[in-house]
Amino acid sequence: MGRHYKWLKCVFIIVITLTMFSCKSRRRHVIHHKQFVECSRCSGSGEVLVVCTICEGAGTVNCSDCYGSGTEECTWCWGQGGEECSDCDGSGREECSWCWGEGYEECSWCWGDGVDSWGEICTRCHGSGHIRCDYCNGYGYIRCSSCYGRGYEICDTCNGSGKVECSTCDGHGKVYCSVCDGSGSIKAKCPECDGQGGRIE
Ligand SMILES: [Zn+2]
Ligand SMILES: [Zn+2]
Ligand SMILES: [Zn+2]
Ligand SMILES: [Zn+2]
Ligand SMILES: [Zn+2]
Ligand SMILES: [Zn+2]
Ligand SMILES: [Zn+2]
Repeated sequence: MGRHYKWLKCVFIIVITLTMFSCKSRRRHVIHHKQFVECSRCSGSGEVLVVCTICEGAGTVNCSDCYGSGTEECTWCWGQGGEECSDCDGSGREECSWCWGEGYEECSWCWGDGVDSWGEICTRCHGSGHIRCDYCNGYGYIRCSSCYGRGYEICDTCNGSGKVECSTCDGHGKVYCSVCDGSGSIKAKCPECDGQGGRIE
């Protein structure tokens, strides 16, 4: 009984082995005839990277809010850089408070008479009775102290430039290309394998 069993087992193993061998050889045969050849251009992915046509490979495009300038008009002063000085109405000067805008003041030596107490022509004002105002140098006006003579008050927001940094691009003038996400290249169907990743030979 034991012997008989051993013999059966032996035959069984031979049959299994032969079956496996024949399967294996058949499979190899199939592979040999229908082989998938990976596309060398795209390494089998079916996609290739091409230069982004929107940003021409730069990865950034001009900011549409500031047209690439990086600045935008100051909304506080409407791009004027400031507003008219209310103290001098934009003239940049104010009346000399020393001579009341006359440009000259009464001669203090002759009290405006032009002659001294002895009837002589006053040597200080040479007989005119008045002398040039030292405070305004005879102009009658001085530089406006509120606007330092500019005629307008400088805008604090833009420091007088009339422009502020563009908030969209933080003043860079460029923003990341949304088409390629800033990489400068986009994926396209591989022209070599028509996006298949290879071909079956
Ligand atoms: Zn390909
Ligand atoms: Zn791009
Ligand atoms: Zn002023
Ligand atoms: Zn004066
Ligand atoms: Zn005088
Ligand atoms: Zn401003
Ligand atoms: Zn911008």
